[in-house]
Amino acid sequence: MGIITGDKGSIIGAATILWEDGEKRNNVMWKVPRNIKFNDNIVVREDEIAVFFRDGKALDYIDRPDRYALTSINAPIVGKIVQRLSGVQQQAEVYYLQKKVFDGKFGSKQPYVFEDKTFQLVKLSLFGEFRYKVSEPSNFINYFVGTLSLTRAPEVEERIKEQVVTSMYNVLGKLKEKGMGVVNLAANLKNIEQIFLEDSKTDFAPYGIVIDKISGLYINLPEEVQKAVDTRASMSVLGTNYMGYQTGQAMREAAVNPSGGAAGAGVGVGAGIGMGYMMMNQMGQTGGQQPPVVATPPSPPPAGAPCVKCGASVPQGAKFCPACGAPQGTACVKCGASLPAGAKFCPSCGASQQATCAKCNAKLEPGTKFCPSCGNPTG
Ligand SMILES: [Zn+2]
Ligand SMILES: [Zn+2]
Ligand SMILES: [Zn+2]
Repeated sequence: MGIITGDKGSIIGAATILWEDGEKRNNVMWKVPRNIKFNDNIVVREDEIAVFFRDGKALDYIDRPDRYALTSINAPIVGKIVQRLSGVQQQAEVYYLQKKVFDGKFGSKQPYVFEDKTFQLVKLSLFGEFRYKVSEPSNFINYFVGTLSLTRAPEVEERIKEQVVTSMYNVLGKLKEKGMGVVNLAANLKNIEQIFLEDSKTDFAPYGIVIDKISGLYINLPEEVQKAVDTRASMSVLGTNYMGYQTGQAMREAAVNPSGGAAGAGVGVGAGIGMGYMMMNQMGQTGGQQPPVVATPPSPPPAGAPCVKCGASVPQGAKFCPACGAPQGTACVKCGASLPAGAKFCPSCGASQQATCAKCNAKLEPGTKFCPSCGNPTG
């Protein structure tokens, strides 16, 4: 609680209201437990805002630090408030707010059901961290605290977190509408964070809240979906197709367990090695790491674009510069917005950045959402 004391030296019955440090700590808000009256004193410090509230509406707020005596003598300074308090109703509720930014963690309480073309109804949950602050004290008290009848700081924080999760679910819904599949979510966490930040401006403005940072977004997927994601990730690292990927797996198993593993996978040891040999060559050509055991002459590096950072030649399709390691960002094939390295969807227009259909391997016009040959969504 803050201090509410009778101020003996001044007018009888007047109190001084201030938010004690011990109580303030990491609380975004304190509702003063007694109404403020005409002739009371209120202390507002550097990092605080005091909002005066009556009949379901914010009357006014003070965000300049000082000790204010709410008397008619002080009318020029606290005019509007004094006017209101010296009227028919000589009191109002007071809420203190902290101006600083707050760090919070959010997480799903109820799973989100993602309707996926391949996996159908996928229940997923998500969590992460965010940073927020009160940007509009009147809106915050009127439309957030007031409307939801929140009186304690933990309730306020809990509601903000729930709103973050809701907005995050809305972003997922939007991406789903644009044809993104559930297996692409994990690779697009940074994009999702960016879209969320953008959308949060309109989602949170009515509540007088600004979200200025979001980080560590994690989406928890059911096991079978996660497996598909892992498979895709390995494939894209190797720059190979699924057949090649399976062959490579069989080869590795054969190497670990020559007697049983490969046979179980339906590929003979000899075949596995032969195929693996081919694959290593492919890897060399696509800029992957060349295993030292392979005795083929190194193929000349394919002509590539210069690195965005150091200018070294970067093989086509490589996500990182082989010389300096800088990620190679590209522009959206449709709207030209700059993309984070490896993005499969444009964060600004949602267009797919893939060149071939994942199902039938047909060539795709950049930016299309469905394969013209088999109709598969390009996500
Ligand atoms: Zn470079
Ligand atoms: Zn775009
Ligand atoms: Zn297709």
